[in-house]
Amino acid sequence: MLPADRVVHTTCPYCGVGCQVDLHLHQDVIFRVSGRYDNQVNRGNLCVKGRFGYDYVHAADRLREPLVRSDRGQDFQPASWEQALDLVAARLAATCERYGPDSVAVLTSAKCTNEENYLLQKFTRAVIGTNNVDHCARL
Ligand code: SF4
Repeated sequence: MLPADRVVHTTCPYCGVGCQVDLHLHQDVIFRVSGRYDNQVNRGNLCVKGRFGYDYVHAADRLREPLVRSDRGQDFQPASWEQALDLVAARLAATCERYGPDSVAVLTSAKCTNEENYLLQKFTRAVIGTNNVDHCARL
């Protein structure tokens, strides 16, 4: 078997169960994924997505930077994370000011950790000021 240069402990990216995995890397390429036994969530087990669904990590056409829609709205331009986040913050603030906080809704993701979902609902309620928050699992 190919020896791993590195083993990275992380959380499966696919769903809110949050199975714990070890990514086995050789020259920065994931060649094997194993479930971790030392946690109560999956106890070493993984479904087919969590065990084999990692092709996207090395996909040539994977997006690696934010893209911002051009002024004409017909194409996308690469932007830094600071530019993209500033733009989103400005547009959210402008929308809330013009139409009120209930004009905004936030949809969280099963790919987020429990803590990230908690932060998103807190941000939605306490910062934006609306209860319009939901989760993709209810779609
Ligand atoms: S291994 Fe399967 S069940 Fe576990 S978190 Fe990933 S997708 Fe969900």
